[in-house]
Amino acid sequence: MLRIQPTVVKGIIAHAKKEAPLEACGYLAEKDGIVIRNYELTNMDASEVHYSMDPAEQFAAVRSMRAAGYSLCAAYHSHPRTPARPSAEDVRLAYDADLSYVIISLLDYSMKSFKIKNGMFEKEEIEIVDNDHSGLYKERHKGLCLRENP
Ligand SMILES: [Zn+2]
Repeated sequence: MLRIQPTVVKGIIAHAKKEAPLEACGYLAEKDGIVIRNYELTNMDASEVHYSMDPAEQFAAVRSMRAAGYSLCAAYHSHPRTPARPSAEDVRLAYDADLSYVIISLLDYSMKSFKIKNGMFEKEEIEIVDNDHSGLYKERHKGLCLRENP
């Protein structure tokens, strides 16, 4: 289960839109089990179908998280034109079974989270934790589908 604040969801969407048609990528940090910040990273591939994070920025982001008392819990990237499903490459390149891998699709504005281990992926539920009542419902009306129908 990935528990995430709506402001972070908005930040990820804004980042994905800004980089489109290229893939956007970044890190998510949690505190007390809730994702509270996204860190935009440069897609060094500058590609519409691949991404690789800038190692110096990865290091700086993790250092900044630690200084703030946050922990790295997820890596995210966008699929500008395909569904929010891990590609074969996403599965192959997932290096940490403890991290969540979040994919946002600009095709249908869906966001999904996965655990990836031993070449297999498993979807995990995303829960929006609206601590700050920042208007998730408005986003829902705009068609953001954050959880698949049961
Ligand atoms: Zn991907």
